[in-house]
Amino acid sequence: MIYRVIGRSGSGKTEYILEAIKKAHEMGKECIFLAPEQQSVAMERALCALLGSRYNLNVELLNFERLPDRVFRENGGITKSRADSKTISLFTALACENAKEKLTSYKNAVTDRDFIKKISDTVSRMEECRITPKALVDAASLIKGENEAFKEKLYDIAQIYHEYTEILKEEYADSYRIQQWLYDSLKKNNFFSGKTVFIDGYYNFTKGEFPIVEMIFKGAADTYISILYDKDEQSGIFDVNKETLSLTEKMGQGVTNVYPDKQRKRVESLSYLEKNLFSGKNDKKFSDDSVSIISCKTPYEESDCIANEIINLVKKGYRYKDIFVAARDNNRLDGFLDAALKRYKIPFYMAEKEELSTKELPSLILSFLEIASSDWSTASVIKYAKSSFSPLTSNEADLLSIYAECWKIRGKQWHDGEDWEFNPSGYKTNPTKRETNMLLAVNSGKKKLSFALEAHIKALKSRSLTVSKGVRTIYNHLIHIEADKILEAKANKLLEQGKEDEAAKISALWDSLMSILTTLHETAKDVKVTPRRLHDLIKLMMDEYKVGALPSYSDSIEVGNASIMRPSDCKVMIISGMNDGVFPASHESSGLFSNMEKEFLRSVGVESETLPEEFIKNEFLLFYNLCAAPTDKLILTFAENTASGGKSRMSSLADTVLGFYDKKCIKHYTPTKKTFKKKRKSEVETFSDKVSLTPQTPETLSLSASKIEKYLGCPFSYFCNYVLRLEKYKQASLSPAEAGTYVHSILEDFTKEVFESGTFKEKTDDEIKEFIDQRVKSYKESIFHGKTGERENYAFDKYASLLFPLLKNVSGEFASSGFVPVKIEDRTSITYPLTEKTEISLDGVADRIDVLEKDGKKYVRIVDYKTGKKDISPEDVKEGFEMQMLTYLFSNCKDGDIPAGVMYFLCGFPSSGTPPFMRNGIMLDCEEVKDEMKFLTDNSLFKKTGFHGQEVIEELKGIVEENVRNVGKNIIDGKMNISPTSRKKKSPCTYCSAKLYCRKKLSEDEE
Ligand code: SF4
Repeated sequence: MIYRVIGRSGSGKTEYILEAIKKAHEMGKECIFLAPEQQSVAMERALCALLGSRYNLNVELLNFERLPDRVFRENGGITKSRADSKTISLFTALACENAKEKLTSYKNAVTDRDFIKKISDTVSRMEECRITPKALVDAASLIKGENEAFKEKLYDIAQIYHEYTEILKEEYADSYRIQQWLYDSLKKNNFFSGKTVFIDGYYNFTKGEFPIVEMIFKGAADTYISILYDKDEQSGIFDVNKETLSLTEKMGQGVTNVYPDKQRKRVESLSYLEKNLFSGKNDKKFSDDSVSIISCKTPYEESDCIANEIINLVKKGYRYKDIFVAARDNNRLDGFLDAALKRYKIPFYMAEKEELSTKELPSLILSFLEIASSDWSTASVIKYAKSSFSPLTSNEADLLSIYAECWKIRGKQWHDGEDWEFNPSGYKTNPTKRETNMLLAVNSGKKKLSFALEAHIKALKSRSLTVSKGVRTIYNHLIHIEADKILEAKANKLLEQGKEDEAAKISALWDSLMSILTTLHETAKDVKVTPRRLHDLIKLMMDEYKVGALPSYSDSIEVGNASIMRPSDCKVMIISGMNDGVFPASHESSGLFSNMEKEFLRSVGVESETLPEEFIKNEFLLFYNLCAAPTDKLILTFAENTASGGKSRMSSLADTVLGFYDKKCIKHYTPTKKTFKKKRKSEVETFSDKVSLTPQTPETLSLSASKIEKYLGCPFSYFCNYVLRLEKYKQASLSPAEAGTYVHSILEDFTKEVFESGTFKEKTDDEIKEFIDQRVKSYKESIFHGKTGERENYAFDKYASLLFPLLKNVSGEFASSGFVPVKIEDRTSITYPLTEKTEISLDGVADRIDVLEKDGKKYVRIVDYKTGKKDISPEDVKEGFEMQMLTYLFSNCKDGDIPAGVMYFLCGFPSSGTPPFMRNGIMLDCEEVKDEMKFLTDNSLFKKTGFHGQEVIEELKGIVEENVRNVGKNIIDGKMNISPTSRKKKSPCTYCSAKLYCRKKLSEDEE
């Protein structure tokens, strides 16, 4: 007898089936219970509760995946290995390659991972529907007219499919073949004979499952099958189950219909919603709070909102296990929702399994192969080095990556057996102690890395590499770096911390990886490969391999994809991502065929492809099942913007629900934003309370002119740069800063040499050229230690054209001026007492200090070299900027000395419209000084507006002191607020390295 337990969701079908199992169990009948895999844990619990822990003496819980093994164990039969999804992916990839020469449309796509995934899905669907490659060729021959492209496509798919079956039939069987054998085996000896079979929890059956269900009906003494169906439902969402109903009728056995009436106890409005969701009837408007539709700004906020809702529900007395969170799109769950739940410390169980390739050890294997395929590219080696499975300490890995990025290390440089000698900070001579220590750590990392990798990478790069050799090399490498032991230690640590589920996942990793390597070895061992191809094959298999875990908390929320979730005892259902195009999912031509092509295939008997109307009905059914699950509350959330910033709308399905409720059920998730904003503002205002920089004892605050400028530009930027020392590492190059140092050093050396005897000694043009040649050579030597390449030479040669005219120019000035350089690169330190206990020390280096002795008077001038644009005026100084040279000036004037002024010497490439080698400054407007600057003024190299009266310079002296004290006081008081100056044309934010951490930017975004 077939008992059809028919009803809508929540009508009591499962309860009826469980009661029937109980009766059969009590009567000592041999029972088989078939339920979907994702329901097995819940069903085992239910059976235990109903029948006690010894229920399995005569009740066996199975699903369609485990059934073949169970039957073959009893009937005998299968001798081949089961090809799981990773093996199928591998076989499809190999089939594509084997078929390549015979293909037309897809010839160039055979190594593309996306294509392999699509063709693998297409072939799987065809296998399931028992469609053979020949059937595809026959279908292609029926295509009329000019549609050559479609014909070629079908021939190509048939060819790949044929190759796939050839590979498969040797030693493996995929699940569809196993289903076929299971069917054949059941026909010979029906495993279900005399048994009582119960089938529950299936929304519908796949084409491959139908013949098995048929054999159950034929063999079992009694079959109880729950069918999600309501003949009065007009929307067509239950149409998929008409096939099951008609199959039962075809069996020629007695059929008894059962309509259970143990309705799930839902609140009234949810009951009404369940019955009428797609009926087109919504003559009631509910205003209870059983449904909420919440709009959020972004998917990130949406996850936050869900976590908040869960916390509020738990505060109201719900248990975590009463709450389910579903999404149609896995991206909503991965990275967004799981992160929010962890942040809020909400226990959860993710029904969805995580992709293997996202885990650290699999990722190390991929980067290991990338090193071989990319010949030690910087990115691949750094990725490898940063893994906790690499032999480097994290400090070594970090420093190594800084050095490698800085000096573009690649290829042989990684394993040439020599120590690196360049400065980790780039084109800099005279490394500091810190830089020397960095270099030591970098070289230690290099040695470990090259010891671990060199031999194995060499083996992978061998021309005779086969899959078998590649797999062995990977395994040997993992053992060499003790990845197995590290993994075990990690799992043990997690166990000690009570994180059993995490530990279980980690432990399963090794087995998963070994399974991939073994499958590869067993199935394709003699296939010749390159490291790149091996990488792609392994990645393909990893993409099919998911790592999951059983729920580790008895009270945790369940999170999962709408397509696989089977919520039981659900009080609250939260559906995330209720956006247009997300739920219902868009019927993107799932796979390789357009809708018209699918229609044609259906018309000629190829029924493997889902038509758009079937697809959308299935989406509606998934949504219906989720809405029908909760007894108390349904919460739908959506984001107004996508993660990448595009606009997004509420889904039509949410709109359908809204039709049953008062508009007030729509809410906007805002609280987080308000508190966030408020909190941020107050944080900024009270920053000084939190980070006190006030010296406790007599102390010296050490400042420099650039620190002061940074502070005046924006105190927070100063804080990031000089208090937190957040550094931005960059590539070694002759950047403007490094070029400046280089040009300055040559200018300084030249000045020292021409004034070696105390008075100026002019050089001829040839002597200047020779001087430049020597200096450039020795400068490069001090940076590159004789290892310059073309790139470095090019960068330095570019400046060669500048050096000769520059030195000629400065020579001309020295020859016609009474100002004599008396100090070069002079380190100056000035102390400004601030309070009784505190003082400021202003330290810096003056590029050049000139002295003019005339008529018994001594005039002092400060010269600063700049390769970029730079100007200075008394107004700048009054505002607190450009104080550097003036502080040097006043501190270098002894009693009786006259401060003659300060001057920037622009010694870089001139900007358009200005003569080269301009000087800008504030100089004393007196004949003695002006006479000695005639070379500059006559050649328009110094503007007359740069001369100022003595009273201006005197005034600036007081202002400078006051400004330094003010800045020092603010720093000591801890005033580090975000307040970029509005003074300059170019905002300090433009090139601010603290931009990443700056809250001001966030507040602007919020506005
Ligand atoms: S980005 Fe602008 S506001 Fe932010 S720290 Fe830098 S200078 Fe200050």
